[in-house]
Formats: sequence, C-alpha cells, structure tokens
Amino acid sequence: MLATGFLVLAVLTVRQVVPGRGDVHEIAGHALGTTYSVKLAEPLSSSRGAAVATAIEGRLDEVDELMSTYRPDSELSRFNRHRSTRPYPLSAPTLEVFAVAQDVFERSGGAFDVTVGSLVDAWGFGPGDRSSRPSTPEVAALRSRAGSEPLALDREAGTIRKLAPDVVADLSAVAKGYAVDLVAETLVALGVSSFLVEIGGELRARGWKADGSRWRVGIERPEPAERTVHLALDLADEAIATSGDYRNFREQDGVRLAHIIDPRSGRPVPYAGASVSVVHARAAVADAWATALSVLGPEAGSAVAEREGLAALFILPGSGGYVTRATSAFRAKLGAGTLIER
Ligand code: ADP
Ligand code: MG
Repeated sequence: MLATGFLVLAVLTVRQVVPGRGDVHEIAGHALGTTYSVKLAEPLSSSRGAAVATAIEGRLDEVDELMSTYRPDSELSRFNRHRSTRPYPLSAPTLEVFAVAQDVFERSGGAFDVTVGSLVDAWGFGPGDRSSRPSTPEVAALRSRAGSEPLALDREAGTIRKLAPDVVADLSAVAKGYAVDLVAETLVALGVSSFLVEIGGELRARGWKADGSRWRVGIERPEPAERTVHLALDLADEAIATSGDYRNFREQDGVRLAHIIDPRSGRPVPYAGASVSVVHARAAVADAWATALSVLGPEAGSAVAEREGLAALFILPGSGGYVTRATSAFRAKLGAGTLIER
C-alpha cells in the first residue's frame, strides 16, 4: 500500500522463488513501486517455478510500462502530455483500467476520480518532489480541471478523449488491483489451480490448499507503526483490496495529509486512522472501490456500498480500540463462518 504511481525502484523486478511449508511455494519480488508475492499450492519443479515467475514478471512489467506515473515514457504519461481534446489511442489494458475507473466514478458520485492527477502532485504525492502546501486559489484552479466526467472513452475505437486539454489522469488507485487480476489470469492460463496473488496489499485467491482449506488473509488494524491482524478472512475465488490513510500520509506543518484526495474539495481526506476493505471478484474493482469508500468515509461510504451490494468493511478507531462497520454482503461472509474477529 506504499506505492503511489509506482515509484520506480533501481531494480525493476527482483524475483525470489521460495519453497514453502507443505506444498505452498512463493514467488516474491519488487514491482510497481511496491512488493509482490504469489503463493502456489502445488508441487513446483524449478523449471516450472522459473517459467511461472517469468510470466508473472512479464505482466507486472507490462502494467508498469503502461500505467506508471513515475515513468515519463509510460503510456499514461504520454497520454497526460497529450494536451489536446482529440481522441487518443490506448492499449486494451489501459482502456480497461479507465473503464473500471469510469464505472466507479459514476457509481461513487465522483468520489473516485482518476483526474485528480494534478491535485495528487500539488499535495506532494506524485512524481514531483513538492513540499509546500498548495494555496487555496491553486487548489480551486486544479479542482476545476478534475471531475465532471472530463474523459470520454470509446472502447470500440480503442480511444480516450480529454474534454479539456489539460486533464491529467492518475490510475494508481486501480492499476495495482488490475495487475493482481492480470497475474491471476496468467496463472489460470498456465494451469495453476490454487494460488494467492498479492501486490502492495491487494490480493486475489483461487482454489483450495492441499489440506482442503481456503487461502486465509489477514486484514490489519489501521495503525501507522504496527502490523496487527484485526480480522482473518478466508477468500474463495475472489479478491480483497484495502485503502486507508494510516500508512501513506505525510506530515506538513504538523498536519497529517493522506494520499487520498477528496475530488469535491480538492484536498486530502482528513486523517482518521481508518481503513476500508472491499471483497470483489475482480481486484481492480475492489481496489477502485476501496479508494472511493475512503473518500466517502464510514457513514456515506457504508450507505453507497450497501446500495451497490458491495462486501465492504470499515475499521475505525473507537472506544479504546477499533470498531468495525460491515455491509450486509460482508456480514454474509461472517455468517458463513469465514470471519474471525480478534
Ligand atoms: P494504495 O496505493 O495505498 O493502495 P489507493 O489504492 O487508495 O491506495 O490509491 C491511492 C492513490 O490513488 C493516490 O496515491 C493517488 O495517486 C490516487 N488517488 C488519490 N485520490 C484519489 C481519488 N479520489 N480517486 C482516484 N484516485 C485517487
Ligand atoms: Mg485503491
């Protein structure tokens, strides 16, 4: 969850294949400005392990080359430099990510908005090394460039069009989830039937382990310094993404600024030390919604998630510890006995 726009590391992808306990093997490394881990519940010969690892790296490099805001040569960076309202041709993956973003933009009433790109930069969470707070007029000017559906997708033509030439898009809140989906699809294509893919905290599972159990994941408490599992959840063939202000924030003039921008105010969401997790079949959709619900907060966010039939869980500071707020779709997982609260 540290990644913002895929800070490019000196080493693009570093891979490690670790034989684990029983039949679980792990392929891990760095990509997209964060870490990844792929666990496979099957016997893995070294040649098969190498082939799977190479396929995974290929997909991660692909997403980085297309959607990184840190790479001036990425497809997204080139699109951002295209200061024109003429249609711009995009690759199928980037178009797909824009389509997920557009859908969540509409359903969340604009809380999720990839056109916050310039605001992300202005508040110091982008590729630039800005350290001063933007002035109120600057925020107002940048905000006027974002929101109100400033992008038009034409999936048949394979193009996207800026409705204002200076719109800058940031796909960071959805691309990591999308990369998780791509890796999962690649594993299925390679005949892997049971796996857990994780990239920077976004996960997707499939199948059962050798002992017949599901992949169990921990949802952490939203504490900045410690890593304590608050809830354990068994994933079926589904994904979970978590968003929050508790790890990726900066202190400026004694104020904690979250890296999530509220497009309605043009300002970082007020720091609340909270998190929200979304379970969905697709990691890209879960990722986008986790960010959208972070913007909306537990009150409005729970209502929107409920209306959308989303399985969402907020963890918030409360009465000496943490309290949770789950939608009925999330509670249904609880009812099935898959959720253990600690
Ligand atoms: P993380 O990267 O920590 O998993 P997110 O998925 O929530 O967290 O993505 C946060 C990133 O998304 C920010 O760093 C910024 O680049 C971008 N972003 C910030 N606010 C919004 C927003 N309201 N809608 C879409 N993207 C956003
Ligand atoms: Mg997200």
